[in-house]
Amino acid sequence: MSVNYASGLSPYDNKGKCGLPETFDDPQTLEEKIKSLTSMVKQSKHIVVHTGAGISTSAGIPDFRGPKGVWTLEEKGETPQHEITFESAQPTITHMALVALERQGIIHYVVSQNIDGLHLRSGFPRNRLSELHGNMFVEECNKCGHQYIREKCVPTMAKNLTGGSCVLNKSRGTCRGKLIDTILDWEDALPEHDLDTANQQARKSDLSICLGTSLQIVPSGNIPLLTKKNRGQVVIVNLQPTKHDKKADLRISAYVDIVLKALCENLGISIPTYNGPTACLQSLHTLKSEKRLPVSADPNLVDNFKLKHDLEKDSVISESKIIKKENSHEPEMKKLKTDSSLLQSGKMASKPEIKQE
Ligand SMILES: [Zn+2]
Repeated sequence: MSVNYASGLSPYDNKGKCGLPETFDDPQTLEEKIKSLTSMVKQSKHIVVHTGAGISTSAGIPDFRGPKGVWTLEEKGETPQHEITFESAQPTITHMALVALERQGIIHYVVSQNIDGLHLRSGFPRNRLSELHGNMFVEECNKCGHQYIREKCVPTMAKNLTGGSCVLNKSRGTCRGKLIDTILDWEDALPEHDLDTANQQARKSDLSICLGTSLQIVPSGNIPLLTKKNRGQVVIVNLQPTKHDKKADLRISAYVDIVLKALCENLGISIPTYNGPTACLQSLHTLKSEKRLPVSADPNLVDNFKLKHDLEKDSVISESKIIKKENSHEPEMKKLKTDSSLLQSGKMASKPEIKQE
C-alpha cells in the first residue's frame, strides 16, 4: 500500500493551514528547553503523549501540512512520489523511545492520529494506545467488533470490506462476521473505545506532550487541552506553528527524534533497537482488574523473546537510575526478568519513580 494513502479518500476541501514555514530553536535554547522538559517529566504523575504525522517523517512517510506534505503539494497541483511502503517503513527513534518510556512506567498513554501502524509495530502496547484515525494493519469484525492486528497491510480503506471473515470462537460457534478496515474517511465517526479512553486519559493527566502534530484536526487536536482543565501542563514539540501554541507551557521547535533521544538520555533510559514488526497487546503495567481489549495479533507478530530480551536490558538501567516506590513489589519486577509468560498475562509491575536530583 502506498504511503500516499490519503489520495484514496473522498475529496474534502477544509484541510487546514498547509505549508507554514518550519522554525528551529538555536542549540542553546534547545538544550535549555529539553532540560525543562526533563524536569516536567520527572515531576509529573500521569503523562499522556499525543502524536501526529511529524513523528513518522523520519521513517520516510510524508506528513500532510509540512513543506512537502501531502496536502501542501496537492494545493500546488503536485503529487508526492515515495518509494517506501507502510510495510517497509520502520519505527523511528521517537517510536522506540516511547516504547522504552512506557515500559519504565514514565509515560502512561499515547493518543495517535497516525494510521501508519508504527506505534504497534514498534511494540507499544495496544491497551495503552488510542489510534483515533485507524491503523493500516488492523481489521475489525463488523459483527462482534474484534480487531485483528496483521503483519501485512489491510487491502482497503475507508471502512470497506477487506474480504476476510471473523474466526473468533463464540459459545454458539465461530463468529464469521465480515472484516472491515479501520481507516477513517473524512467525517467518519472516530472509534468509540479509542476516543473515550483518550479523553479519560487526558482528563487524568498532569502533563500532555504533543509530538509532530499541528493540532488542527478536531477532536484529536483539542484532546491535549483537557490536561489544562486538570491544572496540568502542555508541551508541544513541532517544527511548524500549531493551533494551540499560545496555550503551551513549553514550546519546542526541533526534530522530535532529537528531543526524545535527549530526554531518554537525561532520564538514563536506553532506547531499544527495532528488530522487525511485533505486537504487544498488554502493557507490563496492566492491572489484573483491567478489562482485556477484544484484540488479537497474527502469531508471528508476537515475539516474547525479543520483548523479554529488551526488558532485561531495561531492568539493568532501571535499577541504577530509578528508585522504586517504598511499597513497590520488588519480587514481581524480578519475576518479570525470568518469566516471559508475564508479558502476555498482564502482571502488574510497580510504577518506578524517577529519582529527584
Ligand atoms: Zn466477529
